[in-house]
Amino acid sequence: MGYLDYSIIAFYLLFALGIGIYFSRRASRSSEDYFLGGRSFPWWMIAFSMAATSFASDTPLVVTEITRRDGLQRIWWVFVAVLTLIVGIFLFSRLWRRAAIITDAELEPDPLVEPESICDRCMACVQGCPDAIPHRTEGRTVSIQIEDKTYEWADVHMGRCTLCYHGGDPRVSPFIHKTFPGYEFDVRKQDISEEAAYKLCWPFSLGKWRPTEEDPSGYIVEGHARIQQWGGDGSYGIEGSRGCMRSCFDHREQSGRIEQTFENGPFIKRPRWLLSHRVPNPGTGGET
Ligand code: SF4
Ligand code: SF4
Repeated sequence: MGYLDYSIIAFYLLFALGIGIYFSRRASRSSEDYFLGGRSFPWWMIAFSMAATSFASDTPLVVTEITRRDGLQRIWWVFVAVLTLIVGIFLFSRLWRRAAIITDAELEPDPLVEPESICDRCMACVQGCPDAIPHRTEGRTVSIQIEDKTYEWADVHMGRCTLCYHGGDPRVSPFIHKTFPGYEFDVRKQDISEEAAYKLCWPFSLGKWRPTEEDPSGYIVEGHARIQQWGGDGSYGIEGSRGCMRSCFDHREQSGRIEQTFENGPFIKRPRWLLSHRVPNPGTGGET
């Protein structure tokens, strides 16, 4: 081997090492980040990765040897593998995802957390939620058993939660107040399913009518559509989990139950607000 060969090998090793160092922080955030790249890859990159994984460095030698020995028809041995891989992926990938399989390597499970070691039942989440957690009024809870431990949490009315979160609730959306003067909708009185709430909220928020001076893009609720466009994965949140997540973050930070805290003061910095479920209509002298 000459100087050029050694240079290529050294460059390859340094390049591989550099990529490893560059992504090590991101990959160490969780097992999903390490094994699956945080599920952020486009399909074609996964396809290349699968193809590269399927071919060992000796594969071309083996295929050449088999073809030389048995004739060209043995090349179908390779083509059939492609077909079965494609069919297998279409049939099983959803099931792998549902089964939360991230690798076929054997992993040591983390120990289960002790029930109530994280949640101290302070009820800040219930207080912060705009009435989608029935526990607030009805005391309903859900519990599951994992090995010898029982975990319990407050039940959530998913229809009301979806209405709040995805922009069906005037109390949490100034954008509805801007677009629909005189409108009235009380999420607390609704008893629809999560699916029905989605069917209501998405077209209501993101559908198009015609451009007006107030909503020049033509979206039915311009502010909701902008939030959806700024979001990373196509979804959008108007109410932003103000109770179940943000109140809990805040409580856990303030009670010293988490090590990593937010910079620049407490997580919730400003007084919390809820608008009226009746949108004032200055034009008709309605409620203001
Ligand atoms: S805010 Fe958090 S710690 Fe408090 S009851 Fe809710 S889930 Fe538990
Ligand atoms: S996202 Fe959380 S806080 Fe918001 S309505 Fe649903 S359960 Fe309540």
